[in-house]
Amino acid sequence: MALLKPEDGPLLVASHNRGKIWEIRELMEPFGFEVTSAAEKNLADPEETGTTYEANAEIKALASHAATGLACLSDDSGLSIEALNGDPGIYSARWAGEPRDFDQAMRLVEEKLQAAGATTPDKRRATFVAVLCLAMPSGETHLFRGEVEGEIVWPPRGDLGFGYDPIFLPDGLGKTFGEMMSAEKHAWKPGQPDALSHRARAFQKFARAALGTQ
Ligand code: IMP
Repeated sequence: MALLKPEDGPLLVASHNRGKIWEIRELMEPFGFEVTSAAEKNLADPEETGTTYEANAEIKALASHAATGLACLSDDSGLSIEALNGDPGIYSARWAGEPRDFDQAMRLVEEKLQAAGATTPDKRRATFVAVLCLAMPSGETHLFRGEVEGEIVWPPRGDLGFGYDPIFLPDGLGKTFGEMMSAEKHAWKPGQPDALSHRARAFQKFARAALGTQ
């Protein structure tokens, strides 16, 4: 049984991040939903005061829900690097400063890895994490977490994607997220139970629970 149906109204992506809105819109399109966003509705970004991906995702979904009453889907995501004790983690966007500069954020990651002596692949393990929070029109929330493991490479490779994509090499693949077209990054490969990217994996769980897919 699906929690959400296209005929019940639009789904609002609770974000101002163009990369995320674009990715979620692309993932939702096959299900026939009208998709809008906090950016299009000029909603203010709430302060992310949580200390976990889950808490921040819930803060964002509930803020947009309080302002519109719509079904809202938020994403809190980041790159957790083992040798940096999980940093930048929930602070991934904040490491890029204001205005956001991810070339600088990627350099900062590399400087810290060098300072920690993390120069071989086994010491450069990292996990991209995405937690989606669906706030239903009733205000009830549902959380979905997706992760993908890999390693940090330097120098950055590829200029597709966004954020930290060019320095993340997912396990088992010969190219970084920055070298993949988004269709490949999100692929749900036949015969494999999981999608590739952290966001697509979280989305797959969301789709099963909220949209009634298999
Ligand atoms: P927040 O969830 O808005 O706090 O921001 C998460 C940040 O993590 C983004 O701004 C990106 O820097 C980074 N991030 C999350 N997902 C991805 C991804 O798929 N590719 C590259 N960077 C990502």
